[in-house]
Amino acid sequence: MLTTGCDAVDDLLLGGFPPGIVSELCGVAGSGKTQLALQLLLRAQLPTDQGGLDGRSCYMYTDSLSPLKRLNELAQNYKNDEVSLDKIFLEIATDPMQLLNALKTRLPTLLDRHKVRLVVIDAITAVFRGIAVDSAADAGDRSKIMFEMVNCMRILAAQYDVVFVVINQMTTNMTVGIVPALGLAWSTCVNQRFQLAKVKNPSFRSFKTIFSPYLPSEKSALFEITASKLQ
Ligand code: ATP
Repeated sequence: MLTTGCDAVDDLLLGGFPPGIVSELCGVAGSGKTQLALQLLLRAQLPTDQGGLDGRSCYMYTDSLSPLKRLNELAQNYKNDEVSLDKIFLEIATDPMQLLNALKTRLPTLLDRHKVRLVVIDAITAVFRGIAVDSAADAGDRSKIMFEMVNCMRILAAQYDVVFVVINQMTTNMTVGIVPALGLAWSTCVNQRFQLAKVKNPSFRSFKTIFSPYLPSEKSALFEITASKLQ
């Protein structure tokens, strides 16, 4: 299990994020998805008796914004010998084929040879943004790549028994309002989904289980978010 460092969230998760399956974090902009993911990348390096995975991590990001500055801020909470940014592999993939290739070729190498115990994709949504879906054939192609990606993620998570976290953004649906992006097909492929949301107090966010094979759904926890820490 990989702890988040936020006690209420770890309690909700019955200890933390489990290895072997694909967990999705969804939420609107500013709900804290990236900040939580960056904290996980650092915590994965902690020994297991401190809630970590005693390993390296890989952050696959899909926009051009490097996470290094934010990682540096968060790393200030740890002793120098506890975490190191050198133990985080950063991979950028800005379109679906780049991400699929990274999942099929680069990631297995990192998992095989570099003791990577956590993989984060931030955010899956971005690689599909701007890709026109003008016809049923286009939609079919997009679904095919999406299924291939999530299939790769599930196989790698299980095969290497690593924690796999995928971030998804929200989209507006004409009939049901603001919902996680990529539709029903995608949602049936991830193993569990959690939604982060802003709350009245701007220093806090909520973390809610939407579905999970072993956690009760609709349960939520609050955590505090600052530039340097989540707790
Ligand atoms: P998005 O979908 O736009 O990526 P997100 O849900 O990933 O949003 P975060 O990027 O994690 O949200 O931002 C959540 C909060 O983290 C911000 O509101 C801000 O208070 C805080 N934060 C801390 N450091 C930074 C930073 N260097 N840049 C941006 N936000 C930061």
